[in-house]
Amino acid sequence: MPGRFIDLHTHTLASDGSDTPAELVRKAADARLFAIALTDHDTMDGLGEAQKAAAQYGLVVIPGCEIAVRHGEGELHLLGLWTPQDSPGLKKALAQQRRRRTERNEAMLGALDRLGLCLDMEEVLRFSGKESVGRPHIARALVHRGYVGTIREAFERYIGEGKSAFVPRRILTPEEGIGLLAGAGATVALAHPFLGKGMTIDALDRLLGEFKHYGLTVLEAYHSAHDAGAVRACLALAARHGLLLTGGSDYHGTAKPGVYLGRGKGGMRIPGLLLDKLKEERHKQGLWI
Ligand code: AMP
Ligand code: FE
Ligand code: FE
Ligand code: ZN
Repeated sequence: MPGRFIDLHTHTLASDGSDTPAELVRKAADARLFAIALTDHDTMDGLGEAQKAAAQYGLVVIPGCEIAVRHGEGELHLLGLWTPQDSPGLKKALAQQRRRRTERNEAMLGALDRLGLCLDMEEVLRFSGKESVGRPHIARALVHRGYVGTIREAFERYIGEGKSAFVPRRILTPEEGIGLLAGAGATVALAHPFLGKGMTIDALDRLLGEFKHYGLTVLEAYHSAHDAGAVRACLALAARHGLLLTGGSDYHGTAKPGVYLGRGKGGMRIPGLLLDKLKEERHKQGLWI
């Protein structure tokens, strides 16, 4: 019997991860995970392949996606879990976000060009999948050209928030984003809350009170970037606001070195009980699982 451990936050080549969906599922099975959620940025394109592989490996793949919403000058991320792949509203909104990505990527290549770093879109697309292209792909193209030594350096010098070639992209408000996912029948979680710029426990407390009204029901307490203090704060806030818990590595393959599927930075283990509770809640609400 495989272990009852899960990973509800993963990425593939359909957005900015480095594994194909089938590779991701094979690795999850090798890691003896029982279930994963595929949560690519702004796309559900990898799900078909992942679910086919899941059937082969006897693993559960929960369909999902990750979208960014506005938070001050920066962004927060939402995870939709059990996102329906046939919702016209959701498909249209994700397509719009991807178009906005394209506009922004073109603007960033322009900004890089003005700094003397010449890249064309073809080169960037060589590092991406079909649909959801972003800064990690631009970073890989910059490394490939030798303009920077590492992806990290690309973000720190040029394309990180506020850096010389950074261009913001148009994203939804939290009310729109949560409403979009919840309206499509997905379970909505706030992802890695403490990655939000300048996020404090008090600020998060206020935000959760607000987001709950829009339809947020889950907090991602376990995440590779969370230390023990962040996990504790999430557990306390979730209890206070009556939110369920989720957890995931935010695995991106080689695109995020040092983050392991189901293991985070090494010691993370996410019990299947969390998934049981999420399913129980959906069952109560009459939503599909
Ligand atoms: P985008 O969605 O195009 O704005 O790119 C954001 C993505 O880039 C995030 O989801 C991360 O996967 C990745 N990212 C953000 N900051 C860094 C960084 N400093 N180093 C490496 N990857 C990063
Ligand atoms: Fe990412
Ligand atoms: Fe994220
Ligand atoms: Zn993610």
